[in-house]
Amino acid sequence: MKPHRLVLLGPPASGKGTQGQLMAEAWHLPITSTGEILRRESTLGTPLGLETDRYTSLGQLVPDEVVIASIADWLDANADAGFILDGTPRTLGQATALDALLEKRGTPLTDAIFLDVPPAVIEDRVRLRLMCARCGRTFRLGWQVQEKTAACPQCGGTLERRKDDDPTTLAERMSAYAEKTAPLVQFYDARGLLRRIAADQAVEKVFAQIAAALGRAEAEKEAAPRP
Ligand code: AMP
Repeated sequence: MKPHRLVLLGPPASGKGTQGQLMAEAWHLPITSTGEILRRESTLGTPLGLETDRYTSLGQLVPDEVVIASIADWLDANADAGFILDGTPRTLGQATALDALLEKRGTPLTDAIFLDVPPAVIEDRVRLRLMCARCGRTFRLGWQVQEKTAACPQCGGTLERRKDDDPTTLAERMSAYAEKTAPLVQFYDARGLLRRIAADQAVEKVFAQIAAALGRAEAEKEAAPRP
């Protein structure tokens, strides 16, 4: 199977982080999430964190050149044959800069996975979303965890609400998505790379759709030992 070089697209809380982790673990691919990098930098109080806080805290996108520089560094340090980018690109400018960057490296994208979730579902998901302060994984209250005060089921860290999950910032993030990121669906569709996934479903059903869209389901069935 050829290595996957993937971008994950979708509105806030569409499951990019969760599905990205599952794909990375199942197929041994390095993954990066710009949102997670920026949150870590902000917690550490680094110059990058301080500079980008003024955008992220308002639900606005950080400037393209900051994101692309961070992705270029990450690709140099981590990407071998394949990779997953969670949450980048988010603008047409980032998408074209990424194309040029990957072209130069001789590693063009193989697929753009679009997690399609209706807006009403997003509001509900964000209201019930808790994130681990230590490992960054997210969990849904009343489903994966029962209490707001529960420890992270993955690493035992403290669960909390993301600062930018409050209704005002979410509204801003949704409008940034509609205006700047949604046009990427068309951009990747025109290049024959778009894989549209109906993501308003259970985590494992969404993952199965992604696997099938990437041609993994059959390959894995064939690879499984016969009884
Ligand atoms: P996320 O964790 O993907 O929801 O990202 C959290 C926040 O980080 C976003 O609301 C943006 O402010 C910022 N961010 C993450 N990725 C990007 C990107 N590719 N371009 C611009 N801003 C980004």
